[in-house]
Amino acid sequence: MTQTLVLKAGRDKAVVHGHPWIFSGAVEREPHKAAPGTTVLVESASGKALGWAAYSPASQIRARVWTTETTRPIDHAFFKRRVAEALAWRQLQCTHAGLDFEQTSLRLLHGESDGLPGVICDAYRAQRDGRRDDWLVVQITSAGGERWRDAIVQALIEATGIEQAYERSDSDVRALEGMAARTGPLGASGAQPDPAAWLTENGVRMHLDIAGGHKTGFYLDQRDNRALVGAHAQGRRVLNCFCYTGGFSLAALRGGATEVVSIDSSADALAIAQSNVALNGLDAGRAQWWCDDVFQALRRLKAEGREFDLIVLDPPKLAPSAAHAERAARAYKDINLLGFRLLAPGGLLFTYSCSGAISSEFFQKIVAGAAADAPADAFIERRLAAGFDHPLKLGFPEGEYLKGLMLRKR
Ligand code: SAH
Repeated sequence: MTQTLVLKAGRDKAVVHGHPWIFSGAVEREPHKAAPGTTVLVESASGKALGWAAYSPASQIRARVWTTETTRPIDHAFFKRRVAEALAWRQLQCTHAGLDFEQTSLRLLHGESDGLPGVICDAYRAQRDGRRDDWLVVQITSAGGERWRDAIVQALIEATGIEQAYERSDSDVRALEGMAARTGPLGASGAQPDPAAWLTENGVRMHLDIAGGHKTGFYLDQRDNRALVGAHAQGRRVLNCFCYTGGFSLAALRGGATEVVSIDSSADALAIAQSNVALNGLDAGRAQWWCDDVFQALRRLKAEGREFDLIVLDPPKLAPSAAHAERAARAYKDINLLGFRLLAPGGLLFTYSCSGAISSEFFQKIVAGAAADAPADAFIERRLAAGFDHPLKLGFPEGEYLKGLMLRKR
């Protein structure tokens, strides 16, 4: 029997426009005793069928829309089609970018933006001991994704031919859906990831920690931005703040930076970063790794009179939600102000925010305020974002979480 969720009068616009979140406040009538993840038919107050959604009784986001096309059911075939569509687009984009899809580590499913709310999958095209060691890493943060987990994983394994799969569903946001954390091998292979494995990104070899690293083990979203930093690194003194396993640092070293100072508060991430220098046969003498708090370290660098020609600021999500935006803005301003002060004339600042709650307009305003206070005269050379494997759904602006600016100081 089809369960229905009826919206309040006048609350159907977002769904019709492709926004997948139905907040509890928009719901007139909920399905009766439906389990989390149950597929429900979303109806307008006047009884018009608007789409299929996954019900989540514990969450403020009471339902997430799978599709507005109600003529076909939500079943295994639906997830196969969604996975096939996501892969086809990425294959095409790889071809356009001159990348080999089979060799390129990519985000294959980007949740809401790929029509699969709360479902993320990264494909790591890695190597170990001279052998291929490819992995699918899946993170599920919605009740609907949880309900269809096996179908989605199966569709991914079949479509990619990658048999080793691992779950990293240990994001805090699962608690908001009433779900406990879960990590471990998925699918039939039962294999455990080996931290000796490494992938190649823009010609740079990077170790990745699938089981123990942040998120799904590696930040694929900065691929293009790391290449951009590498292309501008020649002859420059580089400072990479919030370096994690050194993605930007390695790009800069390979790009000919004279020195690279990298800072992160995670000793584990820094250990991997240092191993990456050796893995690429690069000169460890040009790299310094500091296990420190960036907010403090920037002040110390300034007090020591240090100066850099290229600075990267890629902090973690400082605004977990809109309620934290103002406080996060002060933190973004603080590091950007110090960044401008540490930058030599003609220097480049690559500055990012991965907070969905901070719009790109707001971020630019914050950075402009930092420049004014530094004081520094700066130019926007480029607006930056995640790569093509992190698509943006027009009706879901929240999906635009990563934004950045490439700035040149006069
Ligand atoms: N730029 C990285 C990703 C950064 S993720 C890349 O290209 O892969 C954010 C990083 O900030 C994490 O590695 C985390 O350990 C670190 N971090 C968080 N708060 C910090 C702080 N106050 N000082 C230094 N590092 C911090």
